[in-house]
Amino acid sequence: MSPHLTPGAGTTTGGTPKEPESVPTEAVREEYETLVDLVRKYRFAYYQEDAPLVSDAEFDDLFRRLEEIEALHPELVANDSPTQEVGGEVSAAFAAVEHLQRMYSLEDVFSLEELEAWLAKAEASIGKLGDGTPAAAWLTELKIDGLAVNLLYRDGKLVRAATRGDGTTGEDITHNVLTIKEIPQQLQGGEFPAEMEIRGEVFIPSKAFSEFNEALIEAGKAPLANPRNAAAGSLRQKDPAETAKRPLKMFVHGIGAREGLQARSQSETYSLLKEWGLPVSPYSEVLGSPKEVLDFIKRYGDQRHKLLHEIDGIVIKVDDFATQRALGYTTRVPRWAVAYKYPPEEVHTKLLDILVNVGRTGRVTPFGMMEPVKVAGSTVEMATLHNQDVVKAKGVKIGDIVILRKAGDVIPEIVGPVLALRDQQDPPVRDFVMPTECPSCGTPLAPAKEGDVDIRCPNAKSCPSQLRERVFHLAGRGAFDIEALGWEAAIALTQPAEPEVPPLTSEAALFDLTREDLAGVRIRREKRSKGVPTGEYELVPYFYSKGTAKAPSKPTATTEKLFKELEKAKTQPLWRVLVALSIRHVGPRASRALATAFGTMDAIRQASEEDLAHVDGVGPTIAAALKEWFAEDWHQEIVDRWAAAGVRMADERDDSMPRTLEGLTVVVTGSLPNFSRDEAKEAILVRGGKAAGSVSKNTSYLVAGESAGTKLDKAEQLGVPVLDEDGFRTLLTGGPAALEGGAEAEGPEPAAPSEHIDAEVTA
Ligand code: NAD
Repeated sequence: MSPHLTPGAGTTTGGTPKEPESVPTEAVREEYETLVDLVRKYRFAYYQEDAPLVSDAEFDDLFRRLEEIEALHPELVANDSPTQEVGGEVSAAFAAVEHLQRMYSLEDVFSLEELEAWLAKAEASIGKLGDGTPAAAWLTELKIDGLAVNLLYRDGKLVRAATRGDGTTGEDITHNVLTIKEIPQQLQGGEFPAEMEIRGEVFIPSKAFSEFNEALIEAGKAPLANPRNAAAGSLRQKDPAETAKRPLKMFVHGIGAREGLQARSQSETYSLLKEWGLPVSPYSEVLGSPKEVLDFIKRYGDQRHKLLHEIDGIVIKVDDFATQRALGYTTRVPRWAVAYKYPPEEVHTKLLDILVNVGRTGRVTPFGMMEPVKVAGSTVEMATLHNQDVVKAKGVKIGDIVILRKAGDVIPEIVGPVLALRDQQDPPVRDFVMPTECPSCGTPLAPAKEGDVDIRCPNAKSCPSQLRERVFHLAGRGAFDIEALGWEAAIALTQPAEPEVPPLTSEAALFDLTREDLAGVRIRREKRSKGVPTGEYELVPYFYSKGTAKAPSKPTATTEKLFKELEKAKTQPLWRVLVALSIRHVGPRASRALATAFGTMDAIRQASEEDLAHVDGVGPTIAAALKEWFAEDWHQEIVDRWAAAGVRMADERDDSMPRTLEGLTVVVTGSLPNFSRDEAKEAILVRGGKAAGSVSKNTSYLVAGESAGTKLDKAEQLGVPVLDEDGFRTLLTGGPAALEGGAEAEGPEPAAPSEHIDAEVTA
């Protein structure tokens, strides 16, 4: 891996160039030559083989360093320096063709400050033209991550298509380009120039790119690093029938040689190109000020992953042709355009190891430990690899250089290995082997059921890792919401360095913890120097202050906060307690549904699987998981000990309500004029009834509003009484007796409606 170089002043872009220095030292010459060789090697892999050896960000750093050295020592610059050339050569697999007009690359800037400096400089030189040139209008476009292609039209007919190559000579890929449907072989209308070169980007849409990579992984092949390589590889197939199979598209973004074009600006040209049937990007805008350009960059930065194609930046061009001509070109780039590059979202780094984590439900998940690397604005050193099949499918080995991706604020992902570098790794790469025993408690690992890809540690009760994860989870915002119980505190409670027996060996004891239990707890923590980890570790007390002769050790402010929050947690509503229990599949949605339907932990614990499954938002999988969970004694003990410690196990009910629906199960369907679904359920619950989500023989009543569907049919089939809103109101106020005309009737309790219905059904 080459070092991460910082772009400095003196580059050809932005910043204040440093004064050229005198004679370069031997060391500088050596560095320069090494850089030239590296850039050439990387360009070859990228352009000729469509298989980059380093990430774009790393390449860009090297290129900038090269530019920096050349700015300081101009005498080093040879005509064939990479900075003087448009990257790329012509492969022998294709016929070489000369472009009528040269194709260029783009000058890059990597920060908004650099861009502002570039725009200010360009505006100043445009102002100095003094030939009546209008003030700058900036044609602002997305920088498509694809492959540059030059289309030659004669009398409206597509006669040739070529890659950019070295800018002067490209590769003839006409047959392949003809397979791209949206590129017209004949232009529409009659007013087109006799001869015209039209430049654009061929790309693979983002969605198709992901699908393409998934298919490669499935076929046991390494995925492609980026859509640009996918597009380039697809377009540079020897057999056009192969190209035809790839979902390629194109947007045009420039013109080369032209004869008789009636347009004064690039944006005007785009309108003409569109009229002639060429694919013009819908995303371009002509903007009047640098501020608008910066807003455009921000806007597309926020939504870059929601677009049709991947972008790696924004291209800003002077719109007016006369001004473009006046500003001209360097040997490599136009002086009238610049590309702003977004911070890299894809980098290369070394996969140091693949370790496994034991999760809350015992699932054993491999994850990659990498050399820390900055990607999309944050430093990443870990990324999940999900399970052993994924490790295999991605084809990564320990010690590989891997492509790491982090799109926007999405979780980092290891895309795959850079295969070309595998043989050069020292020590040699090795395969990941999934452990057979739990790294935390030594219990043999096994799939939960036959055929499962995921393997688990079955020691749910006392595996320290599983307990740590559950404790961390129960303190989460969606559960008990205990801020003082974060990740490190969860470790300190369940896996401290000292004492040997941790304060918590089961979450059952959480609310019984005392300050004394936490007194001797010490954890192992990495030392930092000015905030930077040093790689050295020390043992530190976690819950108590260090203590001195004068001030004895005592619980820290955070520890006091923990106890306060534990007290508060005891008053949380029932659904949060359910979430805190870490029952498989039972998240906030199902927990809310259960709490609403049953009202108390005891009712949930005692409900039949069928009753649980009928709750709207629960269903058979969750119902089975609940029954399975409550069947374990140690789980029951958690609930009981929490309850004994004062955790609220029932939602408060409004006792002023008559319990008219006690023992009844009511299903609501369709829309009622004066109740939302939740209001209707609430009304049932506060009167002692159960609100179920589906109709069965145990349903006492179906309340059917407008557009009631299959539940109504089912109720009719089973003979379940059906009520409209008026009937529902009567039921709420007076119970079943009121429905039979005997409201407020006294006397013996009416038979439980479910018994009625059973009788009706069996009759
Ligand atoms: P570039 O990609 O930075 O910019 C020029 C190209 O942008 C044009 O040729 C054009 O094809 C394309 N483009 C996309 N949208 C455009 C639009 N709307 N208007 C105009 N042009 C548009 O330059 P380059 O010379 O093609 O490649 C250099 C870049 O390629 C480097 O910055 C690097 O990121 C990458 N590269 C990477 C490696 C590697 O090993 N990873 C090696 C070589 C190059």
